[in-house]
Amino acid sequence: MKIMLITGGSRGIGAATALLAAANGYAIALNYNKNKTAADNVVNEIKSGGGNAIAIQADIAVEAEVVRLFEEADRQFGTLDCLVNNAGILEKQMRVEDMTADRLNRIFAANITGQIICAREAIKRMSTKHGGKGGAIINVSSIAARLGSPDEYVDYAASKGAIDTFTIGLSKEVAAEGIRVNAVRPGLIYTDIHADGGEPGRVDRLKTSLPMKRGGQPEEIAEAILWLASDKSSYATGSFIDLGGGR
Ligand code: NAD
Repeated sequence: MKIMLITGGSRGIGAATALLAAANGYAIALNYNKNKTAADNVVNEIKSGGGNAIAIQADIAVEAEVVRLFEEADRQFGTLDCLVNNAGILEKQMRVEDMTADRLNRIFAANITGQIICAREAIKRMSTKHGGKGGAIINVSSIAARLGSPDEYVDYAASKGAIDTFTIGLSKEVAAEGIRVNAVRPGLIYTDIHADGGEPGRVDRLKTSLPMKRGGQPEEIAEAILWLASDKSSYATGSFIDLGGGR
């Protein structure tokens, strides 16, 4: 059985990925930060469908917690095959002239430093150079990386741009070590990240501006993540799948 570790998996795109991957035979190490009940609900749903999952608390913006997260996954499941670097945050809409260093540090710690540290821990386990059997890393970026999100979230968009550059560089660094590194770039997806970011209903407000005239569902992102995790995408590395309904 293949083992997939998903960060920020208690809801939204992470939870949809966990459910789809479990239904396709993966054992799921489901990371969450604050909402244990929501994480337990996802784990219970997987188990009630005959799947295998555990929930592990860790703030991926804190290096020591990431180290503990991977050690706990090792202890419970053995060496992972796939990391889905999904956890991310969006803060209240704001122009750059009002942004503080505290806000920027929070966003970059969660959205890019956390992803890189999680990838580091995955590589230590997956790399054939370290005796591993290879694996797949999927980074969740955003269409915002290419749009820049002016007047709203330039900081968030910049953190996602950093994920794209990281994906390209890391994919080349570990390509000969059996590890594929790819990214998905979702557009406007119906999840609670928008409520946390300060605008519930944002997807509905903007959907008519989208070429497909609708927002996306988390399950539509999960399908692409699962493909990138699987051997069906065996020649894809350093690749990006844009899932923005044409945005
Ligand atoms: P979400 O808020 O439901 O999910 C994000 C998850 O990450 C949450 O469960 C949150 O608790 C977790 N998280 C945040 N910081 C964390 C930390 N420090 N440690 C551990 N977990 C942490 O929103 P979502 O839309 O499902 O977001 C998933 C990913 O998709 C994010 O990286 C987000 O930037 C990206 N994305 C979302 C959209 C969208 O429109 N929803 C668009 C593009 C990209």
